[in-house]
Amino acid sequence: MGHGKVFLVGAGPGDPDLLTVKAVELLKKADVVIYDKLVSKSILQLVPQKTEKIYVGKGPGKHELSQEEINKLIVNKALEGKTVVRLKGGDPFLFGRGGEEAEILMNHNIDFEVVPGITSALAASAYAGIPLTHRDYSSSIAIVTGHRATKGKGKVKWDKLANSVDTIVILMGVGQLKSIVESLMRGGLSLDTHVAIIERGTLADQRTLIGRLGTIVKEAKERKVSPPAVIVIGEVVRLGEKLHWFKVPICSKEERLP
Ligand code: SAH
Repeated sequence: MGHGKVFLVGAGPGDPDLLTVKAVELLKKADVVIYDKLVSKSILQLVPQKTEKIYVGKGPGKHELSQEEINKLIVNKALEGKTVVRLKGGDPFLFGRGGEEAEILMNHNIDFEVVPGITSALAASAYAGIPLTHRDYSSSIAIVTGHRATKGKGKVKWDKLANSVDTIVILMGVGQLKSIVESLMRGGLSLDTHVAIIERGTLADQRTLIGRLGTIVKEAKERKVSPPAVIVIGEVVRLGEKLHWFKVPICSKEERLP
């Protein structure tokens, strides 16, 4: 029996309409779907009942698989001859450990394909009406992790970032918001730099907080901002006040800073 094939598939930011055609087709024909926490319920509903579904993310009362255990699981299912869909939130190659899983598959001579997904970095911004580039405001973007425990190349150089790109997009940053803001200000960003925090982007309960660097930590705390959220910093955020086309409640004017 030959090996099965593994598809490292991006599930996009949450709204099932933002899946790629290829992702939808694969969800229908897979033997096994191995999925993460950030894959939304309505996307899982596209997987036929008979398909084996394995949850490997974190969650209350659930056992959290280590990356090693996940790797083993994917490899074993493929060795059993199954068509495996490894489904990840957003894009599998952007802070999704897709690279690590692809390496393992390559090492085991298992055939694989990568199916890109719409990353939350782009989708949440778009749904908040914030264009990440704009001829008048921004000609460069950096997408960075706010997670402190980053391995390998390690830490984000916040001070350098502060004065080398126009727009900064931070994933996994809510828990570290205070220290990120402090580092960016040490790096030269001013108190009144515009910031947006977009929670649960593209979902029906998306919520956007728009403010300034100097006060955003306090406001985020008051409004109980919680993950998953994308943080956008830079002048383009101002456009979000005008262009927020997605009809979910944005902070009321009184609650926002001038
Ligand atoms: N590969 C994913 C990112 C995984 S890291 C992607 O391309 O989107 C997890 C982080 O993604 C979260 O901490 C959050 O910052 C962001 N994220 C994922 N889905 C999101 C959503 N619907 N709204 C806002 N942020 C989201």
